[in-house]
Amino acid sequence: MATFWNIVGVRAADIDASHAWAMPGVSCPACGRSWTTVGPALPSISLVDHPLANRFRPTNVAWEEWRELQNAIRDRVPSAEPIVPGLQLGPLRGKVTRPFRLGFFASWGLVVAESLRRELLALAPDLTLVQSDMTDRTSTTYYEFELYSLGAVAHEEHDHCQVCGYSRAVLPPDPLVLRDDPQASIFRVRALPTVLLAHERLLPLLRRELGDAARYEPVQLPS
Ligand SMILES: [Zn+2]
Repeated sequence: MATFWNIVGVRAADIDASHAWAMPGVSCPACGRSWTTVGPALPSISLVDHPLANRFRPTNVAWEEWRELQNAIRDRVPSAEPIVPGLQLGPLRGKVTRPFRLGFFASWGLVVAESLRRELLALAPDLTLVQSDMTDRTSTTYYEFELYSLGAVAHEEHDHCQVCGYSRAVLPPDPLVLRDDPQASIFRVRALPTVLLAHERLLPLLRRELGDAARYEPVQLPS
């Protein structure tokens, strides 16, 4: 089984941008919560030709409307990928205010500049990089990592709602323990979409390029 590392974003790159569309947050009639999720994004999925595109905004909507929007994009999103409140869609649009080669978007997305793209893809040929609509003063092209929710780690879930799917995931204080063996170079943890795990072969490049903008924590494998 492969060895993976938890790549914890500590400092964001100088990016002033947002994704083109987002699943709204949801107000649930069963549990009474209004909530959204931070982290998941599928930049490759464009809604530019979708008849409901202008309703995919980061606001809260009632459960029935939320379900309608979820169903409206189900055939565009890979079937294994959860469609959750706050899921962001489409390329990043905006600007890079200080050029970089590899950097965090907030602390849960990764963006690479053209100059590093080939080296990265040689190490991670399975990785999809989506061209962003961001510019900097040097007219560099930037690409966002398309990170799928592939990994499962040991954790507890609390306050689960059967209707809207809300649950509060709590990690144990010790190192993450991976429950499966994703055949992927870098991916999100399913119940914790801000957690990014990377295969050990990417670690030297990530350390070299991100430096102290990230912490690098080994992930335990199941015993
Ligand atoms: Zn609920």
